[in-house]
Amino acid sequence: MKNHIFDTQSRFLRYVRVDTQSDPNAETFPSTEKQKNLAQLLVEELLEMGISDAHLDEFGYVYATIPSNSPKKVATICFCSHLDTSPDCSGANVKPIVHHDWDGKDIILPEDPTQIIKLTEHPDLEAQIGNDIITASGTTLLGADNKAGIAEIMSAAAFLQKNPQIKHGAIKILFTPDEEVGRGTEKVDLEKLGADFAYTMDGESLGTLEDETFSADGVSLIIKGVSTHPGFAFGKLENALKIAGDILATLPKHSLSPETTQGMEGFIHPTQISGIQEEVKLDFIIRDFSVSGLIEKETLLQNICQEVLKRYPHSQVDFRVTEQYRNMKEILNQYPEVSNYALEAIEKCGIKAEKRSIRGGTDGSRLSFMGLPCPNIFAGEHAFHSKLEWVSVEDMETASQVIINLVQIWEQKA
Ligand SMILES: [Zn+2]
Repeated sequence: MKNHIFDTQSRFLRYVRVDTQSDPNAETFPSTEKQKNLAQLLVEELLEMGISDAHLDEFGYVYATIPSNSPKKVATICFCSHLDTSPDCSGANVKPIVHHDWDGKDIILPEDPTQIIKLTEHPDLEAQIGNDIITASGTTLLGADNKAGIAEIMSAAAFLQKNPQIKHGAIKILFTPDEEVGRGTEKVDLEKLGADFAYTMDGESLGTLEDETFSADGVSLIIKGVSTHPGFAFGKLENALKIAGDILATLPKHSLSPETTQGMEGFIHPTQISGIQEEVKLDFIIRDFSVSGLIEKETLLQNICQEVLKRYPHSQVDFRVTEQYRNMKEILNQYPEVSNYALEAIEKCGIKAEKRSIRGGTDGSRLSFMGLPCPNIFAGEHAFHSKLEWVSVEDMETASQVIINLVQIWEQKA
């Protein structure tokens, strides 16, 4: 038996058994009431630890405070994870399995032996040989996204409660519903939370810190053609469906698409089309790490429309841009200490810290723009939103240690 001082494993096993799947089609908030079952359990556990203001609000958010024990004026730091699991894969009746001292062999999930976790397909498993790996049983996701983060924050909180000699400023704990359906920050009360800076514990690989996300716009093209009876169309009809087809066919084929880009490259991505010969609506998402990159791509798309319209002189295209979200780095650059302290806290665990960027948006990017700068620290979750999801107990323990290191660094530098 290994010495796991934070006891992340038993907490994690308890939390993943509670079904908290969110629902993208619901209009209620939270999108599913069952998320409150986990929220309620967490409140009870926080109260048991002696964190006396822990509570659940009507929207399913959990708020709690570990008061400062430092004579210094220290910034108030929040740790945040989400309660819900992805709608992409069942989260009901999760039966977690601990694979002790994993030997590197394929992990065949017993309830569906076609679900196999292989070292060759999960490069991060290379470093996990000898560790305790937790998986689901083959018919559901595991829910390490983001119950690993919750277990790490809860374990760190319990550790701080038992070790008052560890000096820290005020620490806020925030658990949010509906992250997976893009609504996690919709009803959050930042004034009540009262934090200066925050960290989501929702990243993948050990040692990583994500302080950069895509910037995102939506573009809708309203294509207005010239409609006639097809029997009397000679020389007159300009079919909006064909105009849309020409625009799509003119998009770059070997670049600027999700399927041809990676790393720091952005893209123009058609997502939906609807209409008739008279009028077509064609939707795109535009992604880049900088606003200038977004504008470049939107200009390119506009030029493509102009080019195509030369062949349809009586038609027109309305070009509508909607801002979706922005790269959190724009905000985090104003507070370099937030990321720097996190990197320092990771390295203090004796592991290599690595900055990464996210090809997507996070609750942290939204929180950053709402006034709470919030990069993302690793939680150890892997292959999330799938039946092959896994996490190691060792990575969760290290993530809890990062939290402990981080609150001390904020106190020491204050
Ligand atoms: Zn997540």
